[in-house]
This record gives sequence, C-alpha cells and structure tokens, in this order.
Amino acid sequence: MIIVIGAGIIGLFTAYNLLKKGKKVKIFDTPSLKGSSSDAAVGMLAPLIEAKPLESELFNLMIESKKSWKEFVHLEPINSYIKFKDNGALMVALNQDDNEKLKFKKNYFDNLGYKTELLSANQTLKIEPSLNSNVYSSLFCKNQDQVNPVLLKKFLIEEIISMNGEYLIGKKIDKLKLDDGNVFFGNKSYKFDNIIIACGAWSSEIISNSFGIKIPLRPVKGVSLILNSKCNTISHNLWFRNIYIAPRDNGKLAIGATEDEKGFDHEIKIDELYFLINSIWESFPRLEDLSLNKIKVGLRPTTIDGSPIIGPLNDFNNKILCNFGHYRHGILLAPKSADIISNYVFNKEVLSKDKFFSPSRFNL
Ligand SMILES: Cc1cc2nc3c(=O)[nH]c(=O)nc-3n(C[C@H](O)[C@H](O)[C@H](O)COP(=O)(O)OP(=O)(O)OC[C@H]3O[C@@H](n4cnc5c(N)ncnc54)[C@H](O)[C@@H]3O)c2cc1C
Repeated sequence: MIIVIGAGIIGLFTAYNLLKKGKKVKIFDTPSLKGSSSDAAVGMLAPLIEAKPLESELFNLMIESKKSWKEFVHLEPINSYIKFKDNGALMVALNQDDNEKLKFKKNYFDNLGYKTELLSANQTLKIEPSLNSNVYSSLFCKNQDQVNPVLLKKFLIEEIISMNGEYLIGKKIDKLKLDDGNVFFGNKSYKFDNIIIACGAWSSEIISNSFGIKIPLRPVKGVSLILNSKCNTISHNLWFRNIYIAPRDNGKLAIGATEDEKGFDHEIKIDELYFLINSIWESFPRLEDLSLNKIKVGLRPTTIDGSPIIGPLNDFNNKILCNFGHYRHGILLAPKSADIISNYVFNKEVLSKDKFFSPSRFNL
C-alpha cells in the first residue's frame, strides 16, 4: 500500500501514476488548509519562458516533463476534458525597454538551442489583432502551452477513484508515527510500503513534526484572476512584463500572478489586486469589456535553491518519499516528478540524472 499525503496536483499525479502501474494507493487531504497552490495556478506549461541562467538541471527537468505532458495527453482521451491547449506563447513588448529584453531573451533561448521568432508590431497584430495598438514587438515561442489546473485536478480525482484508489478527505495530518511497517495518524493505523509527502508549502511542517528534520521550504504567495471577456479573440498565451494571460474557453481569461513573501497569509490584499489590475490596464485593451469572475490565492512551495525536492528521505527512512517544492512550475513538473517517485517505488533507485533533486542535497 502506498500512502500519499496531500492531494494537490503533485500528490494526485503521483497517485494516478502509481495506480495506473498496479499499486494500491490511499491519498489524504484536508479542507482546513487555505491557499493550495494548485487551486490558484494558471496552468502554463512553458519551460523555455520559465528558464533561468544557472538552473540547467531544473530546465532539463521541465523539458522532460513537457515531453511527459505530450505523452499524457496523447495516451489518454483527456485533451478536451482538461482543456490542454497546444497554443504557443507570445512574449509582448510595449516599449523599447521591453524590446531590448526580448532581444536578450531570444539570444538566451538560441543559446539553449531553441528557435524563437522576433515579430514586428505589424506581424504581432496580424496574429493577435485584439492587442493594443501600442504593441512594440513580440517574441513567438512554440510549445509553451497551457492546461486548466482545476479541470486537471477533477480529472485526476475521478480517475483515482475509478481505479479503486482511496481519496480520503479529513482532518489535517499533523504528525506521522511509524511503527513496524505501520503508520499511525488521525486515530488510525495503516500498513504501508511507502509514504509520499506531497503537502506543497506545508511539507516541511509535517516532516519536522514527524522526524525532527528541518527542510528549507517556504510559501511564496501568488494571486491570480479569472476574467470574463465579452470579445476574447486571443489565441496565444500572452506574457507581458508583469503579468501573463491564458485564454480559456467561453471567453474566459486566466491572469497571473503576484509573487510575494508573506508567509502563510492567504487573504487577498488590496495591493495585490492593484498590481494585477494596473498591469492589465497597462497591457491590455478594452478593460470595459472585462468583468471579474474569480480571485484566487495560492502558496507556492518554494525551496532555497528554487528546485523541487523529489526522492527518499534516505538518511532517515528510505520509505518516506518527498515530492514537493515545485515553486512556479508544479503543473508543468507534475508528470515527470510522478515518474521519478514511481521509479523509486518500483525499482528502489533514483536515476543519476534525477539525483540532483534529492532531499539529501541540503545535508539534513
Ligand atoms: C498564482 C499562481 C500561478 C501559478 N501558475 C503556474 C503555472 O502557470 N504553471 C505551473 O506549472 N505552475 C504554476 N504555479 C505553481 C503551481 O501551482 C505549484 O507548483 C503546484 O500547484 C504545487 O502543487 P502541490 O500539489 O505541491 O501543492 P498544493 O497545490 O499546495 O497542494 C498541497 C495539498 O496538500 C494538502 N496538505 C498539506 N498539508 C497537509 C496535511 N498536513 N494533512 C493533509 N493534507 C495536507 C493541502 O490541503 C493541499 O491540498 C502557480 C502558482 C500560483 C500560486
């Protein structure tokens, strides 16, 4: 029996992967914690746009996960269910400064071995006619797609239940007590082969309470919006200086996102709304046609080196597996992270290329 604690996208994808391969899985979550990151995510699958210098291991992981995403949506008849959109991205410049940044980005992407295309204002408006006429230029990036995370979560929960996985919603699990192949929490004991901690930003708390280990993880708060648009004709995912916009079905637009160090604060603050609305006002035309549908807040699970923590807690108990700390990239990284964990569950090894993400890199 595999026990997964945390049913955000990371826990759900891991449970789904293991059930598909024939394992028995119980997955636990609680409604008492506010600010699940997966619930606020926009769902961009954009490894190139998220790439940063000196993060080559993370970039390679994102590229591999993007490949897993393509396989996932091709293998399953789920494209339309989870609204996977193979729509590419436009990074938009609104002035000369932005344009200089795009040229720098293009050069950086070229050096990584990926071709992108710098478009003039006219070329940009030809493919996205509903953008502001003040557009200066844009950079077209293929294969930077999106998925709807809310529908993805729903799909994974339904699949887990249909494969006889147990999806158990109850009280927050404060501490795990281990005893001879059993784990005890919430007044019950369960037999287990592995326990997977996928508690997002709360993962370090449960590990510290249970094993006394301090994992360097913190929440980075993000607010995103869903807008109704009367005349949404956008076809690409759009990336402006401060915000990004993913066109959804039925005239909806998903807008991301603020990024703040505010601990576990999950209230929506006026400064966060101001930042988003002001950025939309600067970037996007016809605000009078946009109305508010939802405001969401999520706590991104973030490590000190910006990379996720995936693998066994080897020095303490190699049956406890970590899968958290995916920061801005959890939707993109979910399939590959689930693969690394499931490889360990079946083969008791982490491939050398994936060892970089091991918890032991922090000398715990
Ligand atoms: C505004 C915003 C926009 C984003 N946009 C993107 C994007 O476009 N693309 C992308 O790839 N990523 C994006 N991200 C990042 C992405 O959302 C996260 O990396 C990912 O969702 C993390 O998933 P998770 O399952 O680890 O954590 P979570 O989604 O936070 O889930 C953790 C779950 O564990 C449960 N839990 C925690 N502790 C306990 C406990 N003790 N007992 C029981 N249950 C527990 C919680 O209730 C929760 O359901 C965005 C994030 C934000 C905030």
